[in-house]
Amino acid sequence: MTTPTDTFDAINTCGLRKTYRGKKGEGSKEALKGIDLAVPKGSFFALLGPNGAGKSTFINILAGLVIKSGGEAQVWGRDIDREPRQARAAIGVVPQELNLDAFFTPREVVEFQAGLYGVPRKERATMEVLDAMGLADKADVYSRTLSGGMRRRLLVAKAMIHRPPVLILDEPTAGVDVELRQQLWRYIRELNQDGTTIVLTTHYLEEAEELCDHIAIISQGELVASEPKELLISRLDQKTIAIRVAEEVAVLPDSLAARGAALDDFGRIAFAYQPSETAIGELLAAVGDAGFTIADISTEESDLEDVFLSITRSIPDAAE
Ligand code: ADP
Ligand code: MG
Repeated sequence: MTTPTDTFDAINTCGLRKTYRGKKGEGSKEALKGIDLAVPKGSFFALLGPNGAGKSTFINILAGLVIKSGGEAQVWGRDIDREPRQARAAIGVVPQELNLDAFFTPREVVEFQAGLYGVPRKERATMEVLDAMGLADKADVYSRTLSGGMRRRLLVAKAMIHRPPVLILDEPTAGVDVELRQQLWRYIRELNQDGTTIVLTTHYLEEAEELCDHIAIISQGELVASEPKELLISRLDQKTIAIRVAEEVAVLPDSLAARGAALDDFGRIAFAYQPSETAIGELLAAVGDAGFTIADISTEESDLEDVFLSITRSIPDAAE
């Protein structure tokens, strides 16, 4: 695909806003409150957030399915207002809803989409894409006979047929069983390794943590974090160490209490500490200096769950 310059992000938004007009009798809904987000080229990017956070709204604006209320957005360097056709051609979107015409076959669905995007007949890799999605033997059956997992994979095939540099999957694991999920992820990982930028929306932490290299968190229409995964995890900079000592600890000595130690449920001396501020050796030495013999130690790293909870909890007025 031709590109205007080489210095753009796969997706870039600035102050992106969306207010849905309420239905009769309801107030309006501010679904996006000014999102500034950059998705680096080539990344496997998670847009993580609870239900109703605004993830689908964000995706659908980029896909040209929802009209934004304000702000700007570029896809692959193309502004969605000034170059809507090019912007749309740069992404394939696998929607959250399994909306398929029941009386078309997978082959027809994919062919029709290829036609919409002006892919010349000779260059259409329809069967290749269906095959990659494990649907080769279903190419000519009515779509209504496909299972939920097959429909999801057909929507991926449909989104990929014009070979967009950016593929967006909106809550892709809904209705997909475990085995097919693994197969789907394998294919998506391969696409990513071959250079396709992948954006995945999900409200499952494990999914974002396992698959993605960059995580953005959106909550109530606001972006609360966007960082490489490891950085996001380390941002909390919190570790816990639990030290089992040979002696029975009835009361913690003041010297340890002063360092923030506490006895945990297993009678161990536990410290919550910041690795960047405190060396683990200091804590062990303090325990030794207090007259204890160290029998065992275990440490716990904060995982994404902690990060997610701490970030979403720290938003003022989180309750509505
Ligand atoms: P997510 O995908 O993160 O679950 P959505 O973008 O679907 O969130 O929705 C964000 C908010 O906007 C929700 O409060 C939702 O109810 C509201 N919303 C979404 N679509 C519409 C619509 N067409 N009309 C009115 N409100 C909507
Ligand atoms: Mg959604």
